[in-house]
Amino acid sequence: MVALVVAILVTLVWLAGRYEASQVQAKLERDTADAVSDIRNAMSRNAQTLQALHAAVGDPARWQAEAASLLREHREWVRVEWRDARLSTLLAADTPYRASVFGRLGRANSQADVALACTHARRVNGPAYATSYFVTQRDGLGVEVMELCMPQVVAGELTGYIVATYALQTILTDLISRQVTRSQEVSFTEADGTRLALHGSARRGSRIFTAQQLVDLPGNTLVLRIDSWRAAPDLFPNVLTALVTAMSIALVSVLVLLGKDMRRRLRAEHDLAEALAFRKAMEDSLVTGLRARDLQGRITYVNPAFCQMVGFPPEELLGHATPAPYWPPELAHGYYLRQSTRRAGENVPPREGFESVFMRKDGTRFPVLIIEAPLINASGVQTGWMSAFLDISEQRRVEELSRASQDRLQATARLATVGEMASLLSHELNQPLAAIASYANGSLNLLRGGPHAAADLEMAMHRIAEQAERAGKVIRSVHDFVRRRDQAREAVDPQELLDAVMPLVSLQARKLAVRVEIVVVAGLPRVLCDRTMVEQVLLNLARNAMQAMDEAAVPDRLLLIQVRRAGPSAAGPKGWLEFSVADQGPGISQAVGQQLFTPFFTTKAEGMGLGLSLCRTVVEQHGGFLAFGPHHPQGTIFRFTLPVDPGAPSEAP
Ligand code: ADP
Repeated sequence: MVALVVAILVTLVWLAGRYEASQVQAKLERDTADAVSDIRNAMSRNAQTLQALHAAVGDPARWQAEAASLLREHREWVRVEWRDARLSTLLAADTPYRASVFGRLGRANSQADVALACTHARRVNGPAYATSYFVTQRDGLGVEVMELCMPQVVAGELTGYIVATYALQTILTDLISRQVTRSQEVSFTEADGTRLALHGSARRGSRIFTAQQLVDLPGNTLVLRIDSWRAAPDLFPNVLTALVTAMSIALVSVLVLLGKDMRRRLRAEHDLAEALAFRKAMEDSLVTGLRARDLQGRITYVNPAFCQMVGFPPEELLGHATPAPYWPPELAHGYYLRQSTRRAGENVPPREGFESVFMRKDGTRFPVLIIEAPLINASGVQTGWMSAFLDISEQRRVEELSRASQDRLQATARLATVGEMASLLSHELNQPLAAIASYANGSLNLLRGGPHAAADLEMAMHRIAEQAERAGKVIRSVHDFVRRRDQAREAVDPQELLDAVMPLVSLQARKLAVRVEIVVVAGLPRVLCDRTMVEQVLLNLARNAMQAMDEAAVPDRLLLIQVRRAGPSAAGPKGWLEFSVADQGPGISQAVGQQLFTPFFTTKAEGMGLGLSLCRTVVEQHGGFLAFGPHHPQGTIFRFTLPVDPGAPSEAP
């Protein structure tokens, strides 16, 4: 391409040069033609002027005077002669501008030329010329001259001739317009190129243009040659060449720019290909299924992970409209509605995604998590939807497993508590049973003593009944706790929760000589919770607190259970209630504190280490949090929060 452009450029410049040369040549030809016609006109005028001399032939003095005046006016003549019919010179006059031309060689030498011209003149009966010839001069140089002969005929008889001698050199200087001779070399030449006379001189080293033309005179033909020179051609000889060059430069620049652009394009293409390959590798390595749909619901793109997930090859999915082949037929209607509301822009998919059920090609159903986002094209217009799919069947299985083991753990913990209860129970039942036994013994003795003791007997029986009822209550409280109730959340008054665990707490408190103080702020709303679980949390915390005080052998043992509104930091729709269980035990060291909630961590010989970990799970399942800290002046305080029932009357006074 570059070579072609360079070739065109060179050709154009060359052609432009050629064109210019031809212009110069044409001008030169015109100049030559002008010069030739100048010479011919001047010569024919001169011939007429010479006729004037004829009138003065009779008076030699006058003739001489007129001839001298003519010679002054016409520098091209070097000599004018009046000759008789036999060509003998009668009168002659020489030009005043130079030494006599024939002074050295004598006029006789040129007699032949004069005779030739006059013979011709006689024949044509008008002016005629002889061939030019060279006359050497005294100074060693010479002059090329040419004879003009005009026959003088009076009344049909030849009376003589007027002969004028032209100096060729002066013809060139005087008869041709100055414009032609100023910057060009004008010469008369012979046919072989020999110069006869020359005016002006060509400059060497420059380009020469030459034109020649014949000056046809009666009896002689001269060759006029004009040499014109031009300085070495400019870089831009004319506008055309300059234009062509400028265009070529522009063309080359465009070519260069084009080349650059091409390289940039190639680079961009290469980068794009790399990016595409990178994207492809990324898509193929994804375990997340990807699918794009256009606004009409037709599938426009699926990645390998998605195909693997649903078990359909891409060709069966691409372009498929609703219902999609992986929709379970029984759910297809619901999905269709969901999709049409999505298309209508009525529901925006949640950012965290939503769950759905898909069907594999073999008909098995599996749960998926779908995260959907609008597909926006480069000009910012939505062209469809892009969705990411996660197969959550495995996750579901793990969740199920963990829930089952959680349940088992809770049951185990409950049983452990029950086991503990059993020893407490035996201790607590001892008293009423011992009382019943002693009342029964007393009654027996009274019965043996006679019938007068009826009043005492009745009192004893009352006491027995009372004690039996007390024992029954103890047993019932344990039974109530162990009986597994519905796990459903319900709105519960906080006081009710405390009341439910109090019998069991008091059982242990009595055994360990702990004072229990309960502070419930008046007018608290109800909490939404799983009653059984929360009761167990309270029981666990109270039991831990009492055991801690017992182990440290604290003299004044106080267990403080408080319920109040949680601080403003824990804001819910209706707020939260905070339950706290404080003891005056030894407190919790940092080492123990770090492991407190780790399952099976215990510092007690008979402990299971499950209590606190379960408590935290339960509280967190309710959305609350469980924390502990030091209690002033001594001991530990455990706090946990539960959400207020949103359906409760908004604010108690
Ligand atoms: P367990 O009571 O079966 O040991 P927990 O999970 O209820 O299991 O308690 C774990 C450990 O936390 C206990 O062994 C005890 O060392 C410590 N702990 C719990 N509550 C308190 C408390 N109020 N004061 C001091 N230490 C406590």
